[in-house]
Amino acid sequence: MAVVWLESGRVAPGVHCAPGRVVGALMTFVPPRHDGAVGADPRAKVPRTDALLGGAAAVAALPALGRSRVKQIIGEVQTRVRAGDLDIDAVDDELRTQFSDGLIRMRRVLNGTGVLVHTNLGRAPLSLAALTAISTAAGTCDVELDLDSGRRSSRGQSLSDALLAAVPAAAGVHVVNNGAAAIALVAAAMACDGEIIISRGELIEIGAGFRIPDLLAATGARLREVGTTNRTHLRDYADAISADTRMILKVHPSNYRVDGFTSSVSVAALSSLPVPVVCDIGSGLLHPQPLLPAEPDVTSALRAGASVVTASGDKLLGGPQAGLIFADDTARTEVFRRHPMARAYRVDKLTLAALEATVVGPTAPIVTMLQTTQAQLEARAVSLVSSLEGLDVQARATTSTVGGGGAPGSELPSYGLSLPTRFGARLREVSVPVLARVEDGRCIVDLRAIDQRDLGTLADSIRQAASG
Ligand SMILES: *Cc1c(COP(=O)(O)O)cnc(C)c1O
Repeated sequence: MAVVWLESGRVAPGVHCAPGRVVGALMTFVPPRHDGAVGADPRAKVPRTDALLGGAAAVAALPALGRSRVKQIIGEVQTRVRAGDLDIDAVDDELRTQFSDGLIRMRRVLNGTGVLVHTNLGRAPLSLAALTAISTAAGTCDVELDLDSGRRSSRGQSLSDALLAAVPAAAGVHVVNNGAAAIALVAAAMACDGEIIISRGELIEIGAGFRIPDLLAATGARLREVGTTNRTHLRDYADAISADTRMILKVHPSNYRVDGFTSSVSVAALSSLPVPVVCDIGSGLLHPQPLLPAEPDVTSALRAGASVVTASGDKLLGGPQAGLIFADDTARTEVFRRHPMARAYRVDKLTLAALEATVVGPTAPIVTMLQTTQAQLEARAVSLVSSLEGLDVQARATTSTVGGGGAPGSELPSYGLSLPTRFGARLREVSVPVLARVEDGRCIVDLRAIDQRDLGTLADSIRQAASG
């Protein structure tokens, strides 16, 4: 494609520029000539918007970025030239880089923190199956239509079927936007005109100031706190039951642990009381996970007698952000489904698709990461070290954790790379940033939460960081 440099005529008082000139293939533009007297004014050198918009790089970027984002990027680059921050000869390269960085500011990163479910890093990475499902749903799709009859169908039915097949202990299920929405909808539907009994040891803050008691109170339900921070007994719950009691809520302390002189009441024991028990398990395990014996799961909670179990979709289940509400009885999930707030908590078609694919598809990446043995991680670390010859890098045994609302205090023996501390910051500045941690004066990149297919990218990022 030919690019015409259109700048001609007066661009500044008293300045006349070179006439338009074809500069051949690709996108080198020829800056206007001007005389020395005004050449010192960088504004006279700023390439015009229409010229840059017609350039090959801009034209190629248009379908993916759209005209307004392309113009915005051009505007930002022009501003930097005007301010003298960007050399006019670097405009082409800068535009290419900016266009390829794309439409959104969100960047892909590698999770070398050793924290499997990292809320700041987007929690569970989706499986290829989930990505494929998202692209099926992204266009027009039969999300609420029965193709056989041509009539409207029940939204999310195939996801509900998949979840119920995976959890035979449940009679009904309803899916909402996240774990918090699940708790809010359950509380609103079951207890907005009454009381929720909850242990003082379970009045928890999840993160970023989000507190479960505040969420419950916002539904209009009154909290009846029982027991103490470290110990709550069955009789504390039993004594608190009144005509106003609508449910007992048992919240899994997913991000902390109280050690020492403690006691809490099991779901099985609570189920002996004449009030429905709602269990917020957080992590989203559908069944017991042998590697995390202390972590609650949906099936066990229902079998122990819980009426309702809530969980997140993007923690150990390994799917997209979602909130799952399982119940022992379909009448209960119908109440949730028909509640006026249900519409406000409704998930979009992309979530329905990705979650269904996660449930019926191959092992989710987060589960594979959890199951990878220390010996396998060690072999990866050793092979990375040999591919990074010449750098101060060693393979090192580490400890990773589940994190993000799952298995507090659980320690998973892992393996990682040990680098000089300065890599901590440098690894965040490379094309595919790597989040690491600093330990004993070294920068540690834990390999447990890095997909095996990303190890080549990891090596590239480390090389870039070393040369930066
Ligand atoms: C993570 C978590 C929540 C909140 O779920 P989100 O999906 O983040 O809204 C609630 N309760 C428990 C026990 C959790 O672990």
